[in-house]
Amino acid sequence: HNNYVYIKIPSLSNNESFARAAVAAFCSSLNPTIEEISDIKTAVSEAVTNAIIHGYENMVGDIVIQCRIKNHGVEIIVEDFGCGIVNVDKAKEPLYTSKPELERSGMGFAVMETFMDELVVLSEKDIGTKVILRK
Ligand code: ATP
Ligand code: MG
Repeated sequence: HNNYVYIKIPSLSNNESFARAAVAAFCSSLNPTIEEISDIKTAVSEAVTNAIIHGYENMVGDIVIQCRIKNHGVEIIVEDFGCGIVNVDKAKEPLYTSKPELERSGMGFAVMETFMDELVVLSEKDIGTKVILRK
């Protein structure tokens, strides 16, 4: 079992629902429960929304999503090539947001951490951000 998929999409807000559905379709070969699929969709939505809103702010850039089957589970990577995160530990704190004026609640990373088994965030200023989700 070493199936994988590589998806590259522009950071348009319409593509958030596409990304969520595409990842769910890929994961369906693992016979997940409805709850597991729902958890994965929620986490992918948060990661892709972050790439659109924070990574590229008002610009449009590429988002690369990779999924692969690993050890009977799935690994999902959501990557952008935008502004990056200066302090990842701070960004991951529940309720921390750099955009309170946009009615962001600062809960995206907390949600990803809750709904997935593992969350790894790799980021470099002006290079981009890579979010690795495992379940
Ligand atoms: P919410 O997700 O609740 O709407 P939020 O997006 O601000 O609010 P998180 O998703 O937890 O909260 O992200 C925390 C902070 O990390 C963001 O406010 C932003 O500053 C930074 N961040 C997250 N993802 C990215 C990214 N892809 N590129 C640049 N900065 C990011
Ligand atoms: Mg967010």
